[in-house]
Amino acid sequence: MSKKSSLNLRKFYIGVDVGGTSIKFGVFDGSKKFIDKFSVVTQFREKNAEKAIVAEMLAAIENYCDNNKYGVTKSKIAGIGFAIPGPVVNNQVLRAVNINWKKKYDIVKETKKRFGSKVNVKVYNDANAAALGEYKETLKGKYKSICLMTLGTAVGIGIIINGKLIEGKSGVAGELSHLKVDFSEDALKCNCGNTGCLETVTGGRGIANVYNKMYNTNIAHDAQEVIRHAKEGDEKALVALEKSLDYLSMVISIIMLVYEPEIILIGGGVSNEGTFITDIIMKHLKEKVYITNTFPKIIIAKLKNQAGFYGAVSEL
Ligand SMILES: [Zn+2]
Repeated sequence: MSKKSSLNLRKFYIGVDVGGTSIKFGVFDGSKKFIDKFSVVTQFREKNAEKAIVAEMLAAIENYCDNNKYGVTKSKIAGIGFAIPGPVVNNQVLRAVNINWKKKYDIVKETKKRFGSKVNVKVYNDANAAALGEYKETLKGKYKSICLMTLGTAVGIGIIINGKLIEGKSGVAGELSHLKVDFSEDALKCNCGNTGCLETVTGGRGIANVYNKMYNTNIAHDAQEVIRHAKEGDEKALVALEKSLDYLSMVISIIMLVYEPEIILIGGGVSNEGTFITDIIMKHLKEKVYITNTFPKIIIAKLKNQAGFYGAVSEL
C-alpha cells in the first residue's frame, strides 16, 4: 500500500460491487488511487429486495465513514459508483434476478438523499464495470477495443469498443452469456429461463456441467476440479474442458467478427490456470475463423474480484 503522505486525502471515491454472496466496497483517494476495501454479506430478501439492498449498501458506507484510518467522512465523498448484476440503462437498474431485484429502483436518488446532492453517482452492469476496471487500471490506454469475459460461477461479458462501453438500448448488449449454444434435447436450464445458454456450459458451474453430462455422472462439483485433473493429464477431464471452451470460443468468434477487439481478457476463478486455459481457447478460436489474421490477443485479467469496484469509480 502506498504511503499515507503520498495520498490525496481531501476527497474520496467509493466503488461498490454487488454479488450474489457478498457486496464488495473499494475506497479510492482523490486521485482514484486504491486505498482500502471492505465487504458485507448479501442478504437474500423475499420482498422489496431492491430497496433493502440499496439501504444496506449505503448504511455500510456510512459505517465505514464513522470508523476508518484514512479520514474518509461522508462530506469528503465526491462520488460513489455501483456495479449491479443486471441490465442498467442511464444509471437505472432495470432488474437483477440473481439477487431478487425485480423492478426499476433509483439508486442515484437514494444515494444523493443520504450523501448530499453534490455526490456524483454512476451505476453500471457488473460485467461492464469489470471491463471498464481492466480497461482503465490494467491496460491504461494501451488498447482501445477490449472484451472481458468473467468466468466465475456466472459468466459476465463486457465489451468496450474505441473507448466506449457497448450497452445497447436496454443494457443487454454484450450479454452473450445468454446466447444459446447447446442445442441438444437435454440442454440444461439457465437462470434466465432459456436452456443451453453459454453460462450453462462454461464458467465455474458450466465446465462441471459439461463433464457431468458427458460422462453421465455428478462427481464434478466445480470448474477448478475439472481443470486441475485436465492439467494433470486426465483424458476425460481434458475432453470435457475442451468441449466447454469450444462453446466459449464460438461466442468469442462472434464478438471478434462483429467488433474486432484488440484483446480478450479472461477473468473469474477459471482464469487462475492461466495460459493452460487461454491456449485451449485460442486453438478452438482458430478452428472457427479463417478469414482474418487479426486475431485478438487472449490474456488473463489482472484485477480478479476487484475489477467491478475499480470500474465503478473509473468515470466519476
Ligand atoms: Zn441464460
